[in-house]
Amino acid sequence: MEPEKTSAIVLRVVDFSETSCVVTLFTRSMGKITALAKGARRPKGPFESAIDVLAICRIVFLHKTNDSMDLLTEAKLDRRFRSSNRDLQRLYCGYYIVELLRTLTDEADPHPEVFDMAFDAIEQIDGQGQPAETVFTFECGLLQALGHAPMLTRCVTCGISKTRIDRVHFGLNDGGLLCNDCCRGKSAIKILGSDCLQLLLDRFDVTLENESIESKSDSSSKDETPLAEQKGYREARQLMNQYLNHLVGHQIRLQKYIENL
Ligand SMILES: [Zn+2]
Repeated sequence: MEPEKTSAIVLRVVDFSETSCVVTLFTRSMGKITALAKGARRPKGPFESAIDVLAICRIVFLHKTNDSMDLLTEAKLDRRFRSSNRDLQRLYCGYYIVELLRTLTDEADPHPEVFDMAFDAIEQIDGQGQPAETVFTFECGLLQALGHAPMLTRCVTCGISKTRIDRVHFGLNDGGLLCNDCCRGKSAIKILGSDCLQLLLDRFDVTLENESIESKSDSSSKDETPLAEQKGYREARQLMNQYLNHLVGHQIRLQKYIENL
């Protein structure tokens, strides 16, 4: 069995015995893994301080092909999350990103682009990045990369194209827009205003069929305003929360701490 070397973000650490713990990591080359870290709880253990939630490290592990857990043999710290001591909101944002990675990704399903997005988001959150912007950008990118982006340009049920930016029905169970006919009798429908729809189209980088090039560039020039102050953001934030909860089938635990970003 060849040892695997990769970069990883620590998602969760659970004590396993007096000296060992079980670590969930999001790795760049293997996706999410759960590995046993023997000796990690000893004061001078082999992993020093690398095994800490939100830490980014370089790891070596033995990937087990049968049902037993992977074995972490090395972890060297690349970057520690420092905001924990100075800014509670940034810490919550970091934990929220970790919760999304844990909940939305599958074991051993590699997504290097998701790793890179998460890496950037954690760096921004731990630095000077705007929390609202960083979290929302990460959420949109994550949904897109995992094939869960909402359908915003046509009715999910009948396929009819949306041609105007105006008030729309969004079906949480359906994963996107619904035309007036198709939303009849359905539950979990939200009504979105035109500003919210425009913001979502920009963020998911899609355009309506007849939207002109000029109107697209007009809308992107608004991006100078911080996201949290842009029209439609509150509504989009709320939709994102509900959409994600529907997708995972339960309330995302850290969501209440980022609601007011
Ligand atoms: Zn329809």
